[in-house]
Amino acid sequence: MDKKRVVVFSQIDQTILERLQQQYEVQVLNPKSGDINEQIRQAVTNADGMIGSGRVLNESNLASAQQLKIISTVSVGYDNYDVDYLNQKKIWLSNTPHVLTETTADLAFSLLMSAARRVPYLDQWTKQGQWKRTAGTEQFGQDIFGKTLGIIGLGNIGAAVARRGYYGFNMDILYHNRREKPELAQPLAAKYCSMSELLQHSDFIVMAVDLNHESKALIGQAEFDQMQSHAVFVNIARGSVIDEAALINTLKQNKIFAAGLDVYTKEPLQESELFNLSNVVTLPHVGSATEETRKKMAELAYQNLVQALEGQIPRYLVNPDFN
Ligand code: NAP
Repeated sequence: MDKKRVVVFSQIDQTILERLQQQYEVQVLNPKSGDINEQIRQAVTNADGMIGSGRVLNESNLASAQQLKIISTVSVGYDNYDVDYLNQKKIWLSNTPHVLTETTADLAFSLLMSAARRVPYLDQWTKQGQWKRTAGTEQFGQDIFGKTLGIIGLGNIGAAVARRGYYGFNMDILYHNRREKPELAQPLAAKYCSMSELLQHSDFIVMAVDLNHESKALIGQAEFDQMQSHAVFVNIARGSVIDEAALINTLKQNKIFAAGLDVYTKEPLQESELFNLSNVVTLPHVGSATEETRKKMAELAYQNLVQALEGQIPRYLVNPDFN
C-alpha cells in the first residue's frame, strides 16, 4: 500500500521529522526555496496530513487539497487557520494545549517583572557606564509584591500567570472573561469583574485571551485611557488583541508606567516606534520557546497527526464537530 503523504510547512523538531520520514512520504517546505504559499498550493493537492506552525492556511492555499485529513499545528493558538473553511472541507485541525501553559506563564511573569523593574533599560544603563553614582529616581521601578493583578482571559495560561501572582507575590487577582470561570478563579480568590473595573483597579494587566472575532482589538485607546498611570501592561496573547498604535501613543505620553510585549500585529517585528521607547520590553514571540516545551509541543502535534492518519480521533481537536 502507498505510504500516506505528509507536508511539513515550517521548521519542526528534528527527531519528530525523522520519525515522520520513517512512517510516511514527507515533503518539507522551505520559504527559501520560493513563494511559500505557492509551495503549499502544490504540496496539498495529494497530501493526507500537514504539520507545522506560523503560516496562514485558508481557502487561498488549501483549495486544491483532495484528501487532506488533518492539519496539526504545533501551537495552542489557531488564529492562523480558517476553521470555517476547514469544517466545510472536513479537514481536522489539532493543536497543542497544556504542555506550554507553565512556560508561557513564566514568560508573561518575566515580562511583567522586567517592565516593572526596568530590567532591560537598567542593564543597558549599567553596561554603558552610566552608573557613576547610586541609581536615583530616574531609574526607579514599581513594587510588585502585594499589588493587584488583572488577567484578561483567565484560561489555562491566564490562570497560570495568576497563580504566580497569588502564591508567589501575594497579589489580589481580578479577571475578565466572556464567562465567569469559577473553577479557575476560586482557588486564587480571583474576582470576576467588568473590563472597566479591571482596567481601573489593576496595577498589572496581562492579556491572555485567544484571538477570535470578539477579542480582536479588545484593548484600544479608550481602554488604555482607563488604566492607572503606574500600570504595567503585558501582552503574551496575540498582537491583534490590542490596538498597537494606541499602545504606542499611550507609552509615548507616559500615560501608563510600562509595557511588556511578546506578540505584535505584524511579525516578525522589523521596524517599529516601539524600538525608540525605553518604557517597553520587546520580545520576539518566545512564550513557549524553551527546549523542553518545544519538544513536548512537537511530540503532541506528531501524536495528533499520526492518530488522524491511522484512523483514530486525535486527542486535541479544535473542530471535532463536523464528524
Ligand atoms: P485558553 O485556555 O483557551 O484561554 C483563553 C481564555 O480567553 C479563555 O478563558 C476565554 O474565556 C478567554 N477569552 C476569549 N475571548 C475573550 C474575550 N473576547 N474577552 C475576554 N476573554 C476572552 O487558551 P490558553 O492555552 O490559555 O492560550 C491563550 C492564548 O495565548 C492562545 O490562544 C495563544 O494565542 C496565546 N499564546 C501565546 C504564546 C506566546 O508564545 N506568546 C504561547 C502560547 C499561547 P471565555 O471564552 O469565557 O471568554
